[in-house]
Amino acid sequence: MRYRDLQIETQRQSPNNARTEGFSFLVRGGYLTRENLLTKLGEYTLDHLRKLSTDESFLFHLSLPNINTDHEIYFPIQSGSINLAYCADCNYTDRLEFARFQKISLPGEEQLPLEKILTPDCHTIEALASFLNIPREKTAKALMYTRDLNNKFIFVVVRGDMQLSEAKLKQQVGEIRPATAEEIEESGAVAGYASPIGLKDALIVVDDLIPRSQNLVAGANEIDYHFKNTNYGRDYSAEIVADLVQARAGDACSNCGNPLSVVPVISLSTRNEHNFENISLALAETHHDDKGLAFPKLASPFDVYLMHVPGKEMNTHAKAEDIYNSLQSAGISVLFDDRDERAGVKFNDADLIGCPVRVTVGEKGLKEGMVELKLRRDKENRLVPVNKIAEEIKSLLK
Ligand SMILES: [Zn+2]
Repeated sequence: MRYRDLQIETQRQSPNNARTEGFSFLVRGGYLTRENLLTKLGEYTLDHLRKLSTDESFLFHLSLPNINTDHEIYFPIQSGSINLAYCADCNYTDRLEFARFQKISLPGEEQLPLEKILTPDCHTIEALASFLNIPREKTAKALMYTRDLNNKFIFVVVRGDMQLSEAKLKQQVGEIRPATAEEIEESGAVAGYASPIGLKDALIVVDDLIPRSQNLVAGANEIDYHFKNTNYGRDYSAEIVADLVQARAGDACSNCGNPLSVVPVISLSTRNEHNFENISLALAETHHDDKGLAFPKLASPFDVYLMHVPGKEMNTHAKAEDIYNSLQSAGISVLFDDRDERAGVKFNDADLIGCPVRVTVGEKGLKEGMVELKLRRDKENRLVPVNKIAEEIKSLLK
């Protein structure tokens, strides 16, 4: 391919909207526009990755840090839109919203009599716990939804210090939406002061920690009132008892008890369906230095960045043209920078684009029958006889 065929436009500056270095270098190397659209070079690179993917294990040959589950491969990245719960000790991995963890019950207590108490303006767990001077663990948090399928009103209870995972709830009840004020009123619940006690026609779903928690403070379904000492089984029961809450960093791994960490990631592959744009970002994130991209051979759409330095006496362009043809005949993929630009401009572009090898055809070397060859990752050039280039490149890229 020629530089011009791909209409490559490199950028001197990092884009203002760059959230990661990898994105910044993909834009600067001319693979992406600032608006995150693929350029011709970007499309060409994705096609290259698509061809590689006929080998099922290709992702593992790209030298990318990754976290795997049975059917997904993720790449850790600060800007990732997916959060994983990950145990570094036993490698347990799951999407955070589905992650299991060991829940810690409070010490068991005698069930105390239900007691209605005045709790003015306590319509959040925080306000309630602070007003009563109790830990949030001693409260029951209520959440109300309606099932899409049949408009069934769903009343959910989790312990006050826990966060509901809607994803886990959906696994139990199907698709849901937040209940409307009208639906809440019809059920007999009062938002901000709600509990499952005395509701009509509600599907009650509780987290499995609730039956193990005694004497929780819960709503009295009356404005400004709560019940002290509510107890599952005595005061209400549920159709579904299940794990409904979201794990947090530091929670104990359900397999081994060590603390889970929360890792932001992007997905590279799900059940052998690959996300090539994410793979390309992961490659750029992993393989760059302060001058630009530095792709490993397998990942790079081109083995060689070939350039000529315009000469005073000799036609270096024509010689580079010959080398372009002979390298391609030898099965080496080449990006030929055939512009009549200054050497400095081309060196910068070669570094930004990141092909593993740069070949420079210049007057001085040619006079001795040599071209300059440089590995992207090395600082030093080496001089190679023109008739030995293909051989030399093949041995370097092995
Ligand atoms: Zn573990």
